[in-house]
Parts: sequence; C-alpha cells; structure tokens
Amino acid sequence: GKVDHECEVLVLGAGPGGYSAAFRSADLGMNTVLIERYSTLGGVCLNVGCIPSKALLHTTSVMDEVKTMSKHGITFGDPKIEIDQLRGYKDSVIAKLTGGLAGMAKARKVKTVRGLGRFLDAHHVEVEITSGSGQDLTGHKEVVRFQKAIIAAGSQPVKLPFLPDDPRIVDSTGALLLKSIPKRMLVIGGGIIGLEMATVYSTLGSRIDIAEMMDGLMAGADRDLEKVWEKFNAGRFEKIMLKTRAAKAEVKSDGIQVSFEGENAPAEPQIYDLVLVAVGRTPNGKKIDAGKAGVQVDERGFIAADKQMRTNVPNIFAIGDIIGQPMLAHKAVHEGHVAAEVAAGQKSYFDAKQIPSVAYTDPEVAWAGLTEEQCKAQGIAYEKGLFPWAASGRAIANGRDEGFTKLLFDATTHRIIGGGIVGTHAGDLIGEVCLAIEMGADAVDIGKTIHPHPTLGESVGLAAEAAHGHCTDLP
Ligand code: FAD
Repeated sequence: GKVDHECEVLVLGAGPGGYSAAFRSADLGMNTVLIERYSTLGGVCLNVGCIPSKALLHTTSVMDEVKTMSKHGITFGDPKIEIDQLRGYKDSVIAKLTGGLAGMAKARKVKTVRGLGRFLDAHHVEVEITSGSGQDLTGHKEVVRFQKAIIAAGSQPVKLPFLPDDPRIVDSTGALLLKSIPKRMLVIGGGIIGLEMATVYSTLGSRIDIAEMMDGLMAGADRDLEKVWEKFNAGRFEKIMLKTRAAKAEVKSDGIQVSFEGENAPAEPQIYDLVLVAVGRTPNGKKIDAGKAGVQVDERGFIAADKQMRTNVPNIFAIGDIIGQPMLAHKAVHEGHVAAEVAAGQKSYFDAKQIPSVAYTDPEVAWAGLTEEQCKAQGIAYEKGLFPWAASGRAIANGRDEGFTKLLFDATTHRIIGGGIVGTHAGDLIGEVCLAIEMGADAVDIGKTIHPHPTLGESVGLAAEAAHGHCTDLP
C-alpha cells in the first residue's frame, strides 16, 4: 500500500508520556513522527487534567486564604466571581503550555500528524486525519511506516452505565469546563481527582455531597495524613458519605435525582444541579487495533510493558496510563524517556524506587515511597520520625499549622523508605523526600542537612531528627 510518512520512531499519543518520548527520541537523533488526534499537544494532563485543575485550585486557595485575613485584622469584601473570566484564565494557562510544546516539537523537527491512529501491522499505523476540536474525522487517511513505535495513548474517565445521558452529569473534563457554578453538586468518588474538583467548586459556592464506596477518602494515602485534611475541611462539604454508592439517577425538571445505597445513604433521593463522576480512569488499549501489530492487550485495555518499556512485540514500546497504575503524569514522562533511549539502543531501565502522589487539595496531601500501611501489610520493620507543624515557626506565621511531616526509615539500615506530608505546599515539599529515597539517604543524612529557617521545608530535616531517638545504634 501507499506510505505517506516514513520514520524511525512513531509515537502514538501526545500526552506527557508521548511528547516526552518524542522529544527524547528526536534529541537522540532519530527521525520521529508524533500522532495526536487533538489540535493541541499535552494530552489529558495539559488540556483536561493536571494543569487546568491546578489553575483553578490556585485561584480558589487564594480566595480561601483571603477570607482568613480578617483574623489578621485585614478585611476584604465578598468575592465577585466572573466565571467567564476565570474560565478564560484557565484556558490561557493551557494555551501557554500547549503552545510551548508545539514550539518545542517544531524546534526538534518532530513531525506531528493530526488524527486518530490505528495499527495496520507491526510496522504501519494508519491515521484518520481529524479537524476542529479533534472529534471530527475527515475520512482522509495517511499511512506512517515506522521502525519502532511507542504507544502512549493514555486513558479516559470510567463511565457509570446506569447514569442517564444529560449535560448535568459530567466527568472531570466536563467539570473543568466550568460552565456554571451549581447550587447543589454531587461528587461520586472520593479519590484525588474528585476531591480536587470538590475543593474548587465548594470555594466557588457550591454545596457539595461526596459519595465514596470505600471506607475512606483519598485511597493510597496513610489515614493519619488524610485525617488532617478531613478535620480541616469539616465544614466545607454538606455530606461525606463513606461506604455508600450512587445507585440510580433520574433526570427531573429541577435537577438530577440520585438514590444511594450503603451504610451512610440518605433515606430520600437527593436532587443535584451537577453530578461529577470521578470513579477512576480506564486505559485506551482496546481502541488502537494493537492486536494487528501483535501487541497483547488485557481485558481491561492495559498493555503490559517490561522495565525497558517493551511490549511483547520487540519493536513496539508502551508507556504512561495505558500500561497501568499509578496513572500519573510524572510516571509517564520518565517511562517516555526510557522508551526513547532504549529505542535508540541505550541500556536504560525504569527502575524508580518511588513514584510520588499528591492531592492538591487544601491542605495538600503528598506521599512517596512506602506508606505506613504498606510497611505493616508487607511486614517491613520501620522507624518513624514525625514533625508536627504546630512546632514550625513558618507554619504558625502562615496561620496554617494543622499539618505534619512524617518520614519512615528501615529499622536496620536507617535508610529512608517513605514519607508523607500534609499541609500547605506539601506537593512541593515532597520532592526532597523523593530525592532522599532515590539516593538511599539515612536519618542522619537528612537530619544533619542544614535547611533554611524559617521554612516549611525544615520540617523534613526535623522529622529525620525526631527519628534519631528511635534509632538507638545511630551516632
Ligand atoms: P494522556 O495524557 O492520556 O495522553 C494520551 C494522548 O493520546 C491524548 O492526547 C489522546 O488524545 C491521544 N490518543 C489516544 N489514542 C489516540 C489515537 N488512537 N490516535 C491519536 N491520538 C490518540 N497526574 C499528575 O501527575 N498530577 C496531577 O496533578 C494530575 N491531575 C489530574 C487531574 C485530572 C482532572 C485528570 C483527569 C488527570 C490528572 N492526572 C494528574 C493524571 C494525568 O493527567 C495522566 O496520568 C497523564 O496525562 C497520562 O499521560 P499519558 O501520556 O499516558 O496519556
């Protein structure tokens, strides 16, 4: 058949994994083609994920902080919310970043082909060219022949089959559109994405219920961290319904009527102006005809990759959300680099000791390496160093001393194996813990490192010092 483009490396999907792989591939001298259905690069993270959610969370956290200034003797008036302008701000943030990526692709001579790609065999992808928003298929097809391919087709929100089709029932993408501020909102799913969006909308004035099937919010985080968030946010939400699921929904003239089942289900169905479904994400593996290239896709749509990001087909790699949990941008980026390096013949491996998680809620909750719950479940003997922010000059000066910093050390080697932080800027602070874990630092290394005073970052050093007391054989 006819071939429109030839390349050494084809990258399917331009999210954080895909653009990182394509850029590294080009930097290593390989002729690279990047296929993306949407008009902008950046995938979920830049367009409808990490970045727009943080633009909104920044805005709403300033709104919340301003309210507390009356305690310092400074009073402002009630906020006046211009929702079109707020949406415009968020969109301008996305445009700046996606525009930057387009420039970087051009500078590196990465050829982008805009359309929906599907494998024809282990050396060809057919791209149906798209226009407009990216949903519009033009019918025009182009074929790319490649030596190596990197699959970075990502994931999308899980749908709940019993929910009716209605513009007032949205996923995270719909919630980020910020069409209006609902009076009453239901968030189904108490994970990071649901809680971040609930934080934004509650500050903007929505009365929010949260329904979560499990017995706790923010799955994956240690309970002591989550409890601090929960206590601080006690007044923020109407009802937090744990061990409860939304069971049925009906479209009524005055809203979406939802019935619940479970331990904390309200007896009566509830009416909402907006329902956000945030119950997880599902990989796009079944949509790219991977089987025609011989690539195995499991029944959920995941594609398995080894430590060099190779699939079962030697010239085809896979990275990012499509290969499994945790579905996080920084994981995708690092996997993208490994895949490109291996494609270029380098001996790279993905051998990270830790992948951090952050809930950018207020306060933020961040953790890296092993959690205490994992240590207990795996029978790992550990020592804990904990520093409460109530003893931090900076946290007190900031009027935000509810948090704490916790470090976990291996009981025999005293090397750090994990850590968690809850408090303002916890996501920024966890980076030091990540580095310490990768470097194999022990409690003395961290405790004797001079941190600037007065900072929230000091709490990491002080938590390590607190652990010394438990490490009896330390100098
Ligand atoms: P994606 O970003 O999903 O990109 C895949 C790309 O491939 C898409 O652009 C898609 O259009 C394209 N594509 C798919 N199939 C085809 C095809 N057949 N042809 C052409 N193109 C195709 N992660 C964090 O680390 N930090 C956060 O703060 C964070 N916040 C989030 C907030 C929200 C609301 C959401 C939804 C997610 C968030 N995430 C966050 C997760 C993060 O967005 C993902 O982990 C990350 O985007 C995964 O990158 P990826 O490269 O694997 O795939």
